[in-house]
Amino acid sequence: MSNLNYLDKQIEELKEGGVYRILPINYGACTNVIDLNHKRVVNLSSNNYLGLANHPDVKEAAIEAIRKYGAGTGSVRTIVGNQDILEDLEVILAEFKREEAVTVFQSGLNCNIGAIQAIVNKGDLIISDELNHASIIDGVRLSRADKAVFKHSDMEDLERVLKEKRNQYVNVLIITDGVFSMDGDLANLPEIVKLAKKYDCLTYVDDAHGSGVLGESGRGTVDHFGLHGQVDFIIGTLSKAIGVVGGYVASKKIVKEWLLHRARPLLFSTALPPAAVGAIIASVKLLMSSTEYTDKLWENAEYFKKGLKELGFNTGHSQTPITPVMIGDEAKTMKFSKALLENGVFVSGIVFPTVAKGAGRLRCMISASHTKEDLDFAIEVFAKVGKEHGLI
Ligand SMILES: *Cc1c(COP(=O)(O)O)cnc(C)c1O
Repeated sequence: MSNLNYLDKQIEELKEGGVYRILPINYGACTNVIDLNHKRVVNLSSNNYLGLANHPDVKEAAIEAIRKYGAGTGSVRTIVGNQDILEDLEVILAEFKREEAVTVFQSGLNCNIGAIQAIVNKGDLIISDELNHASIIDGVRLSRADKAVFKHSDMEDLERVLKEKRNQYVNVLIITDGVFSMDGDLANLPEIVKLAKKYDCLTYVDDAHGSGVLGESGRGTVDHFGLHGQVDFIIGTLSKAIGVVGGYVASKKIVKEWLLHRARPLLFSTALPPAAVGAIIASVKLLMSSTEYTDKLWENAEYFKKGLKELGFNTGHSQTPITPVMIGDEAKTMKFSKALLENGVFVSGIVFPTVAKGAGRLRCMISASHTKEDLDFAIEVFAKVGKEHGLI
Protein backbone atom coordinates (compact mmCIF):
# COMPACT_ATOMS: atom_id res chain seq x y z
CA MET A 1 0.00 0.00 0.00
CA SER A 2 1.35 3.35 -0.97
CA ASN A 3 0.15 6.63 0.40
CA LEU A 4 -0.45 7.68 -3.21
CA ASN A 5 -3.43 5.30 -3.44
CA TYR A 6 -5.81 8.23 -3.35
CA LEU A 7 -4.51 9.18 -6.80
CA ASP A 8 -5.20 5.67 -8.16
CA LYS A 9 -8.79 6.14 -7.12
CA GLN A 10 -9.05 9.58 -8.70
CA ILE A 11 -7.51 8.38 -11.97
CA GLU A 12 -9.91 5.42 -12.00
CA GLU A 13 -12.78 7.91 -11.74
CA LEU A 14 -11.49 9.82 -14.76
CA LYS A 15 -11.35 6.57 -16.75
CA GLU A 16 -14.88 5.62 -15.69
CA GLY A 17 -16.09 9.09 -16.71
CA GLY A 18 -14.52 8.68 -20.17
CA VAL A 19 -12.36 11.77 -19.71
CA TYR A 20 -8.96 10.19 -19.03
CA ARG A 21 -6.46 11.32 -21.63
CA ILE A 22 -3.13 10.20 -22.98
CA LEU A 23 -1.25 13.19 -24.36
CA PRO A 24 -0.89 13.06 -28.13
CA ILE A 25 2.64 13.58 -29.46
CA ASN A 26 3.38 15.99 -32.30
CA TYR A 27 6.48 14.81 -34.17
CA GLY A 28 7.20 18.13 -35.86
CA ALA A 29 6.46 21.85 -35.99
CA CYS A 30 3.06 23.36 -35.21
CA THR A 31 1.54 23.98 -38.66
CA ASN A 32 -1.70 23.43 -40.61
CA VAL A 33 -1.02 19.70 -41.06
CA ILE A 34 0.90 17.90 -38.33
CA ASP A 35 2.41 14.48 -37.68
CA LEU A 36 0.42 13.58 -34.56
CA ASN A 37 1.19 10.15 -33.09
CA HIS A 38 2.77 9.40 -36.49
CA LYS A 39 -0.43 10.16 -38.36
CA ARG A 40 -0.81 13.13 -40.71
CA VAL A 41 -3.78 15.17 -39.57
CA VAL A 42 -5.27 18.58 -40.23
CA ASN A 43 -4.54 20.54 -37.06
CA LEU A 44 -7.63 22.37 -35.75
CA SER A 45 -6.36 22.69 -32.20
CA SER A 46 -3.53 25.17 -31.95
CA ASN A 47 -3.50 28.78 -30.83
CA ASN A 48 -1.03 29.52 -33.63
CA TYR A 49 -3.66 31.79 -35.22
CA LEU A 50 -1.38 33.42 -37.77
CA GLY A 51 0.93 30.52 -38.57
CA LEU A 52 3.89 32.48 -37.19
CA ALA A 53 5.17 29.67 -34.92
CA ASN A 54 6.95 28.10 -37.89
CA HIS A 55 7.50 31.21 -40.04
CA PRO A 56 11.00 31.25 -41.64
CA ASP A 57 11.72 34.89 -40.61
CA VAL A 58 10.68 34.15 -37.04
CA LYS A 59 12.83 31.03 -36.82
CA GLU A 60 15.81 32.85 -38.33
CA ALA A 61 15.47 35.66 -35.79
CA ALA A 62 15.53 33.09 -32.97
CA ILE A 63 18.75 31.59 -34.33
CA GLU A 64 20.33 35.05 -34.72
CA ALA A 65 19.41 35.95 -31.14
CA ILE A 66 21.02 32.75 -29.84
CA ARG A 67 24.22 33.56 -31.75
CA LYS A 68 24.51 36.96 -30.09
CA TYR A 69 22.89 36.42 -26.68
CA GLY A 70 23.24 32.69 -25.97
CA ALA A 71 20.63 30.15 -24.98
CA GLY A 72 19.62 31.51 -21.58
CA THR A 73 19.57 34.82 -19.74
CA GLY A 74 21.20 33.43 -16.62
CA SER A 75 19.11 35.45 -14.20
CA VAL A 76 15.87 37.12 -13.30
CA ARG A 77 15.29 40.50 -14.94
CA THR A 78 16.00 42.47 -11.81
CA ILE A 79 19.60 41.15 -11.58
CA VAL A 80 21.40 40.48 -14.92
CA GLY A 81 18.63 38.88 -16.99
CA ASN A 82 17.48 42.15 -18.54
CA GLN A 83 19.17 41.93 -21.95
CA ASP A 84 18.87 44.88 -24.33
CA ILE A 85 16.93 42.73 -26.80
CA LEU A 86 14.17 42.41 -24.16
CA GLU A 87 14.12 46.19 -23.66
CA ASP A 88 13.85 46.56 -27.46
CA LEU A 89 10.90 44.18 -27.49
CA GLU A 90 9.07 46.26 -24.89
CA VAL A 91 9.51 49.42 -26.95
CA ILE A 92 8.23 47.71 -30.10
CA LEU A 93 5.26 46.19 -28.29
CA ALA A 94 4.29 49.53 -26.75
CA GLU A 95 4.31 51.07 -30.21
CA PHE A 96 2.29 48.14 -31.61
CA LYS A 97 -0.25 48.33 -28.78
CA ARG A 98 -0.44 52.15 -28.92
CA GLU A 99 -0.03 52.33 -25.15
CA GLU A 100 2.57 54.19 -23.03
CA ALA A 101 4.55 51.19 -21.78
CA VAL A 102 4.82 47.42 -21.94
CA THR A 103 6.25 45.01 -19.36
CA VAL A 104 7.14 41.57 -20.71
CA PHE A 105 6.66 38.43 -18.60
CA GLN A 106 7.59 34.78 -19.23
CA SER A 107 4.00 33.86 -20.15
CA GLY A 108 0.45 35.13 -20.14
CA LEU A 109 -0.24 33.01 -17.09
CA ASN A 110 2.71 34.66 -15.35
CA CYS A 111 1.24 38.10 -16.06
CA ASN A 112 -1.96 37.20 -14.23
CA ILE A 113 -0.15 35.46 -11.39
CA GLY A 114 2.19 38.43 -11.03
CA ALA A 115 0.30 41.58 -11.92
CA ILE A 116 -2.98 41.14 -10.06
CA GLN A 117 -1.39 40.60 -6.66
CA ALA A 118 1.01 43.48 -7.30
CA ILE A 119 -1.65 46.07 -8.11
CA VAL A 120 -4.32 45.40 -5.48
CA ASN A 121 -4.12 45.01 -1.74
CA LYS A 122 -6.04 44.30 1.43
CA GLY A 123 -8.86 46.84 1.52
CA ASP A 124 -9.39 46.59 -2.25
CA LEU A 125 -11.99 44.61 -4.20
CA ILE A 126 -11.62 42.58 -7.41
CA ILE A 127 -14.75 42.07 -9.51
CA SER A 128 -14.31 39.27 -12.03
CA ASP A 129 -16.43 37.88 -14.90
CA GLU A 130 -17.57 34.36 -14.00
CA LEU A 131 -16.07 32.90 -17.19
CA ASN A 132 -12.61 34.45 -16.80
CA HIS A 133 -9.60 32.29 -17.66
CA ALA A 134 -8.13 29.91 -15.07
CA SER A 135 -4.92 31.97 -14.79
CA ILE A 136 -6.98 35.04 -13.81
CA ILE A 137 -8.76 32.99 -11.17
CA ASP A 138 -5.39 31.85 -9.83
CA GLY A 139 -4.02 35.40 -9.92
CA VAL A 140 -7.06 36.65 -8.02
CA ARG A 141 -6.64 33.89 -5.43
CA LEU A 142 -3.06 34.99 -4.79
CA SER A 143 -4.04 38.58 -4.09
CA ARG A 144 -5.04 39.86 -0.68
CA ALA A 145 -8.02 41.80 -1.99
CA ASP A 146 -11.65 40.75 -1.50
CA LYS A 147 -13.33 39.08 -4.45
CA ALA A 148 -16.71 39.32 -6.16
CA VAL A 149 -17.98 37.73 -9.38
CA PHE A 150 -20.45 39.06 -11.96
CA LYS A 151 -22.53 36.96 -14.34
CA HIS A 152 -20.87 36.44 -17.69
CA SER A 153 -20.85 39.73 -19.66
CA ASP A 154 -23.93 40.85 -17.70
CA MET A 155 -23.46 44.61 -17.26
CA GLU A 156 -26.52 44.95 -15.03
CA ASP A 157 -25.06 42.37 -12.69
CA LEU A 158 -21.70 44.16 -12.73
CA GLU A 159 -23.43 47.43 -11.83
CA ARG A 160 -25.38 45.66 -9.07
CA VAL A 161 -22.07 44.57 -7.48
CA LEU A 162 -20.62 48.09 -7.90
CA LYS A 163 -23.67 49.75 -6.29
CA GLU A 164 -23.59 47.31 -3.42
CA LYS A 165 -19.86 47.34 -2.69
CA ARG A 166 -17.95 50.22 -4.30
CA ASN A 167 -17.91 52.53 -1.33
CA GLN A 168 -16.66 49.86 1.10
CA TYR A 169 -13.26 49.65 -0.64
CA VAL A 170 -10.24 51.78 -1.50
CA ASN A 171 -9.54 50.52 -5.04
CA VAL A 172 -11.87 48.35 -7.09
CA LEU A 173 -10.45 46.40 -10.03
CA ILE A 174 -12.77 45.03 -12.73
CA ILE A 175 -11.20 42.07 -14.55
CA THR A 176 -12.39 40.49 -17.77
CA ASP A 177 -11.10 38.39 -20.63
CA GLY A 178 -11.10 40.41 -23.88
CA VAL A 179 -12.09 37.33 -25.86
CA PHE A 180 -13.56 34.41 -23.92
CA SER A 181 -11.46 31.45 -24.94
CA MET A 182 -14.04 28.67 -24.79
CA ASP A 183 -16.88 30.43 -26.65
CA GLY A 184 -15.06 33.07 -28.70
CA ASP A 185 -17.35 35.91 -27.59
CA LEU A 186 -16.07 39.42 -26.75
CA ALA A 187 -16.29 41.30 -23.47
CA ASN A 188 -18.51 44.38 -23.54
CA LEU A 189 -15.49 46.63 -23.04
CA PRO A 190 -17.12 49.97 -23.90
CA GLU A 191 -19.72 49.41 -21.17
CA ILE A 192 -17.15 48.09 -18.67
CA VAL A 193 -15.01 51.21 -19.23
CA LYS A 194 -18.08 53.41 -18.81
CA LEU A 195 -19.06 51.73 -15.53
CA ALA A 196 -15.46 51.91 -14.32
CA LYS A 197 -15.50 55.69 -14.89
CA LYS A 198 -18.89 56.13 -13.24
CA TYR A 199 -17.83 54.17 -10.13
CA ASP A 200 -14.16 55.24 -10.10
CA CYS A 201 -12.69 51.77 -10.69
CA LEU A 202 -9.62 50.31 -12.36
CA THR A 203 -9.94 48.06 -15.43
CA TYR A 204 -7.96 44.94 -16.35
CA VAL A 205 -8.43 43.11 -19.66
CA ASP A 206 -6.73 39.80 -20.40
CA ASP A 207 -6.58 39.84 -24.17
CA ALA A 208 -4.75 36.55 -24.77
CA HIS A 209 -7.09 35.48 -27.58
CA GLY A 210 -7.53 39.02 -28.92
CA SER A 211 -3.79 39.71 -29.35
CA GLY A 212 -2.85 39.20 -32.98
CA VAL A 213 -6.47 38.50 -33.86
CA LEU A 214 -8.71 41.54 -33.31
CA GLY A 215 -8.16 45.21 -34.12
CA GLU A 216 -5.88 46.70 -36.76
CA SER A 217 -3.22 44.09 -37.62
CA GLY A 218 -4.09 42.22 -34.43
CA ARG A 219 -3.60 45.09 -31.98
CA GLY A 220 -6.27 43.52 -29.81
CA THR A 221 -9.71 44.02 -28.33
CA VAL A 222 -8.95 47.47 -26.92
CA ASP A 223 -7.98 48.66 -30.41
CA HIS A 224 -11.05 46.93 -31.88
CA PHE A 225 -13.28 49.04 -29.59
CA GLY A 226 -11.18 52.21 -29.98
CA LEU A 227 -10.44 52.41 -26.26
CA HIS A 228 -6.71 53.19 -26.26
CA GLY A 229 -5.53 54.77 -23.01
CA GLN A 230 -8.77 53.92 -21.23
CA VAL A 231 -7.99 50.44 -19.89
CA ASP A 232 -5.51 50.46 -17.01
CA PHE A 233 -4.02 47.00 -17.49
CA ILE A 234 -4.05 45.17 -20.85
CA ILE A 235 -2.62 41.68 -20.73
CA GLY A 236 -1.48 40.06 -23.94
CA THR A 237 0.15 36.76 -24.71
CA LEU A 238 3.08 36.13 -27.02
CA SER A 239 2.34 32.39 -26.96
CA LYS A 240 -0.73 32.31 -29.19
CA ALA A 241 -1.05 34.43 -32.37
CA ILE A 242 2.49 35.77 -31.96
CA GLY A 243 3.61 32.15 -32.16
CA VAL A 244 6.37 32.01 -29.53
CA VAL A 245 6.00 32.18 -25.73
CA GLY A 246 5.62 35.00 -23.23
CA GLY A 247 3.15 37.57 -22.02
CA TYR A 248 2.99 41.31 -21.39
CA VAL A 249 1.18 44.04 -19.57
CA ALA A 250 0.48 47.17 -21.64
CA SER A 251 -0.22 50.17 -19.42
CA LYS A 252 0.83 53.64 -18.30
CA LYS A 253 4.56 54.05 -17.48
CA ILE A 254 3.90 54.25 -13.76
CA VAL A 255 2.38 50.77 -13.78
CA LYS A 256 5.50 49.39 -15.41
CA GLU A 257 7.71 51.01 -12.77
CA TRP A 258 5.64 49.36 -10.05
CA LEU A 259 5.55 45.91 -11.71
CA LEU A 260 9.34 45.93 -12.05
CA HIS A 261 9.50 46.28 -8.25
CA ARG A 262 6.64 44.07 -7.15
CA ALA A 263 5.55 41.48 -9.77
CA ARG A 264 6.90 38.23 -8.36
CA PRO A 265 7.51 36.39 -11.68
CA LEU A 266 9.89 39.23 -12.63
CA LEU A 267 11.66 39.07 -9.27
CA PHE A 268 11.80 35.31 -8.72
CA SER A 269 11.79 33.57 -12.11
CA THR A 270 14.37 33.76 -14.91
CA ALA A 271 13.76 36.11 -17.84
CA LEU A 272 12.57 34.88 -21.25
CA PRO A 273 15.37 33.25 -23.30
CA PRO A 274 16.90 35.34 -26.12
CA ALA A 275 15.64 32.93 -28.81
CA ALA A 276 12.08 33.62 -27.73
CA VAL A 277 12.63 37.37 -27.56
CA GLY A 278 14.28 37.52 -30.99
CA ALA A 279 11.49 35.45 -32.52
CA ILE A 280 8.77 37.62 -30.93
CA ILE A 281 10.33 40.80 -32.31
CA ALA A 282 10.31 39.28 -35.82
CA SER A 283 6.67 38.20 -35.41
CA VAL A 284 5.47 41.59 -34.21
CA LYS A 285 7.33 43.31 -37.04
CA LEU A 286 5.58 41.05 -39.56
CA LEU A 287 2.24 42.07 -38.05
CA MET A 288 3.11 45.76 -38.07
CA SER A 289 4.13 45.66 -41.70
CA SER A 290 0.98 44.08 -43.14
CA THR A 291 -2.60 42.95 -42.48
CA GLU A 292 -2.00 39.90 -44.68
CA TYR A 293 -1.89 37.46 -41.75
CA THR A 294 -4.95 38.71 -39.87
CA ASP A 295 -6.95 39.06 -43.11
CA LYS A 296 -6.25 35.45 -44.02
CA LEU A 297 -7.15 34.27 -40.50
CA TRP A 298 -10.58 35.92 -40.59
CA GLU A 299 -11.27 34.76 -44.14
CA ASN A 300 -10.46 31.16 -43.17
CA ALA A 301 -12.51 31.35 -39.98
CA GLU A 302 -15.60 32.68 -41.75
CA TYR A 303 -15.32 30.02 -44.45
CA PHE A 304 -15.04 27.19 -41.92
CA LYS A 305 -17.84 28.45 -39.65
CA LYS A 306 -20.19 28.76 -42.61
CA GLY A 307 -19.36 25.18 -43.68
CA LEU A 308 -20.13 23.72 -40.26
CA LYS A 309 -23.32 25.75 -39.84
CA GLU A 310 -24.60 24.58 -43.23
CA LEU A 311 -24.10 20.99 -42.04
CA GLY A 312 -26.34 21.74 -39.06
CA PHE A 313 -23.75 21.92 -36.26
CA ASN A 314 -24.30 24.29 -33.36
CA THR A 315 -21.28 26.62 -33.37
CA GLY A 316 -22.42 28.72 -30.43
CA HIS A 317 -22.10 32.51 -30.43
CA SER A 318 -18.46 33.09 -31.30
CA GLN A 319 -17.44 36.52 -32.66
CA THR A 320 -13.86 35.43 -33.38
CA PRO A 321 -11.99 32.63 -35.22
CA ILE A 322 -12.57 30.35 -32.20
CA THR A 323 -15.23 27.93 -33.48
CA PRO A 324 -16.86 25.75 -30.82
CA VAL A 325 -18.98 22.80 -31.88
CA MET A 326 -21.35 22.23 -28.99
CA ILE A 327 -21.94 18.58 -28.02
CA GLY A 328 -22.92 18.58 -24.31
CA ASP A 329 -22.17 15.18 -22.80
CA GLU A 330 -18.51 14.73 -21.78
CA ALA A 331 -18.01 11.14 -22.95
CA LYS A 332 -19.82 11.85 -26.25
CA THR A 333 -17.56 14.86 -26.81
CA MET A 334 -14.39 12.84 -26.29
CA LYS A 335 -15.70 10.02 -28.52
CA PHE A 336 -16.45 12.46 -31.34
CA SER A 337 -12.99 13.99 -31.04
CA LYS A 338 -11.42 10.51 -31.21
CA ALA A 339 -13.40 9.57 -34.32
CA LEU A 340 -12.41 12.81 -36.08
CA LEU A 341 -8.77 12.04 -35.33
CA GLU A 342 -9.12 8.54 -36.79
CA ASN A 343 -10.40 10.26 -39.93
CA GLY A 344 -7.51 12.72 -40.17
CA VAL A 345 -8.70 15.81 -38.29
CA PHE A 346 -7.47 16.78 -34.84
CA VAL A 347 -9.83 18.84 -32.70
CA SER A 348 -9.43 18.43 -28.98
CA GLY A 349 -12.53 17.87 -26.90
CA ILE A 350 -13.06 20.43 -24.16
CA VAL A 351 -14.94 19.17 -21.11
CA PHE A 352 -15.38 19.80 -17.39
CA PRO A 353 -13.52 21.28 -15.51
CA THR A 354 -12.36 23.55 -18.37
CA VAL A 355 -16.02 24.29 -19.16
CA ALA A 356 -19.19 23.66 -17.11
CA LYS A 357 -20.52 20.10 -16.67
CA GLY A 358 -22.74 19.16 -19.63
CA ALA A 359 -21.21 21.89 -21.84
CA GLY A 360 -18.69 19.65 -23.61
CA ARG A 361 -17.60 20.85 -27.01
CA LEU A 362 -15.03 20.51 -29.72
CA ARG A 363 -13.14 23.73 -30.05
CA CYS A 364 -11.93 24.28 -33.62
CA MET A 365 -9.06 26.74 -33.85
CA ILE A 366 -8.69 28.16 -37.31
CA SER A 367 -5.38 29.57 -38.48
CA ALA A 368 -4.09 31.71 -41.33
CA SER A 369 -1.85 28.73 -42.12
CA HIS A 370 -4.79 26.55 -43.22
CA THR A 371 -5.31 26.15 -46.95
CA LYS A 372 -8.77 25.97 -48.48
CA GLU A 373 -8.09 22.25 -49.10
CA ASP A 374 -7.39 21.70 -45.37
CA LEU A 375 -10.67 23.38 -44.44
CA ASP A 376 -12.71 21.54 -47.10
CA PHE A 377 -11.23 18.25 -45.95
CA ALA A 378 -12.06 19.05 -42.30
CA ILE A 379 -15.65 20.02 -43.16
CA GLU A 380 -16.08 16.76 -45.10
CA VAL A 381 -14.82 14.71 -42.15
CA PHE A 382 -17.11 16.61 -39.74
CA ALA A 383 -20.05 15.74 -42.03
CA LYS A 384 -19.17 12.03 -42.21
CA VAL A 385 -18.35 11.52 -38.52
CA GLY A 386 -21.17 13.80 -37.36
CA LYS A 387 -23.72 11.65 -39.23
CA GLU A 388 -22.19 8.42 -37.89
CA HIS A 389 -22.51 9.77 -34.35
CA GLY A 390 -26.06 11.05 -34.84
CA LEU A 391 -25.03 14.67 -34.20
CA ILE A 392 -26.42 16.09 -37.46
C1 LIG B 1 -3.93 31.26 -23.00
C2 LIG B 1 -4.34 32.24 -22.01
C3 LIG B 1 -3.45 32.66 -21.02
C4 LIG B 1 -2.10 32.03 -20.86
O1 LIG B 1 -1.19 32.50 -21.80
P1 LIG B 1 0.23 31.79 -21.90
O2 LIG B 1 1.09 32.78 -22.56
O3 LIG B 1 0.02 30.53 -22.68
O4 LIG B 1 0.65 31.48 -20.49
C5 LIG B 1 -3.85 33.65 -20.16
N1 LIG B 1 -5.09 34.20 -20.25
C6 LIG B 1 -5.97 33.82 -21.19
C7 LIG B 1 -7.29 34.49 -21.26
C8 LIG B 1 -5.63 32.82 -22.09
O5 LIG B 1 -6.50 32.44 -23.02
